[in-house]
Amino acid sequence: MNDVKKALTVIANWKMHRTISEAKKYVTDLAPLIQGSLSQVYLAAPFTMLSEIAPLCRASNIVLGAQNMNDHDEGAFTGEISGKMLKDAGADFVILGHSERRTLFHESNDFVNRKVKKAIDVGLVPVVCIGETAAERDSGNTANVLSYQLRYSLAGVNSEQIGRIMIAYEPLWAIGTQQAAMPAVAQEMHLFCRRYIEDQYGKYAAEKVSILYGGSVKPDNAKVLSEQKDVDGLLVGGASLSVESFEKIVNFPNGIL
Ligand code: PEP
Repeated sequence: MNDVKKALTVIANWKMHRTISEAKKYVTDLAPLIQGSLSQVYLAAPFTMLSEIAPLCRASNIVLGAQNMNDHDEGAFTGEISGKMLKDAGADFVILGHSERRTLFHESNDFVNRKVKKAIDVGLVPVVCIGETAAERDSGNTANVLSYQLRYSLAGVNSEQIGRIMIAYEPLWAIGTQQAAMPAVAQEMHLFCRRYIEDQYGKYAAEKVSILYGGSVKPDNAKVLSEQKDVDGLLVGGASLSVESFEKIVNFPNGIL
C-alpha cells in the first residue's frame, strides 16, 4: 500500500470517439502536461487516425495502439484490420477481448486467443481484457470466470511471450457505470490474476506481467486504485476523453500535482 511512486501504465481507451483533427489537438494539448510523469501513457485510438497521430505520439513519448484487430494477416475479411496493418500505421499495442467486443460483437475466448498470438507474432503488445458480470460476481463465480477467461484467452502463450502481454481486469459492472471497484476488491482480483500467472508460468513471469484495472476510473479514485500492491496501471474509458481529467489520472498517482 501507499506505493504511490511506482511507474504506472495508464491507457486511454477512446472507444468510438474523435475525428482526426480532434485527436491531433488532444495529443498536442496532453503532451506538455504529462512530460514529467512517472507513468507511461498509452493511447488506444480508432483505426482512422493512427497514422495521422503516430508522429505526434512518438514525439511526446505516448505509446500508440488500437482497440481491436483480426487474427489474420490479410484476406477476405471485409471491414477487418490486421495486426500487420496496425503496426504499419504506427501502433505498438492493441486492446483485445474488451467486454464491449465480447458482448456486443460476440467475441469468444478462442477468437481472442488467436488474436493474442497474432499480435505477439507481429510485434504488438496485447492488452487482454477479462472481467466478470454483476450476476457472475453475485453468484460467487468470479474466480471461475476469470480463470476460464485467462486460461482460454492465453492458451498456447509461452512463458517468454507472457512477459510481452498486459492483462486488464475490467469488471463489467464497473465499466461506464461510475461504480469503480472498491480498491480492496481490485487488489483481491489482481492478486488472483497474478497467482494464476504464477501457477501457469512461474514467479518471474508473475512479477513481470502488468495487470491493469479498468472500470470507471476517474481523477478522484485513480490514486487509491493505483496504490494497491498488485495494480500496475489503469485502463481508462470515459475519463480519458477529456485532456483535463486524463492528465489528472496520469499525474495524481505519482503525487506530481
Ligand atoms: C473501458 O471501456 O475499458 C473502461 C474502463 O471504460 P470506463 O472507464 O468508461 O468505465
